[in-house]
Amino acid sequence: MITFLRLMLEGAYRNFARIVNKADRATSIEIRRKVVTLSVPPLDTVLDETCIGCSGCYNVCPTKAITMVPLERPVEIVEGYMKTQVPRIDLEKCVYCLNCHDICPIYSVFGEAAPIHGRDVGTPHMTIQEILKKPVRAPPETIEQLSKLIPVESLALIKGGERK
Ligand code: SF4
Ligand code: SF4
Repeated sequence: MITFLRLMLEGAYRNFARIVNKADRATSIEIRRKVVTLSVPPLDTVLDETCIGCSGCYNVCPTKAITMVPLERPVEIVEGYMKTQVPRIDLEKCVYCLNCHDICPIYSVFGEAAPIHGRDVGTPHMTIQEILKKPVRAPPETIEQLSKLIPVESLALIKGGERK
């Protein structure tokens, strides 16, 4: 009985200390401030710089969480190929299946960090021009699958990676 009472008192004291002194918290003061001021920045889920705008991610998303947004100023990323749109993820619809990441040609064909990820895209290590010069590193099945998801111009662009 005495042991039980001691445990109860210890538990109550620890909780009191946690609540009053804010002990045991893992989040930093900076993040806490952002949470209470509703200023936590949204996740960076698309790297526009290394995206070729092929819309493969849009076509493969099972929850229709991706919208392709037209670029105000289309970009010629290599001679004769204009990037006219980039994806945006609605995180409220995203179920983090990562289909978009895995099918993205930059990842699946060149083995580079994909410009799209449901959680966080991270930092690119190469420019899109450098990536496209790399040899294609994908089995024929992947190219076949991609050919059903992306326009022929985009397919021709990534297959151009076979040329050194
Ligand atoms: S990770 Fe999210 S955005 Fe990407 S395909 Fe899955 S549901 Fe769609
Ligand atoms: S699949 Fe990759 S390259 Fe194609 S639009 Fe989506 S993010 Fe961009």
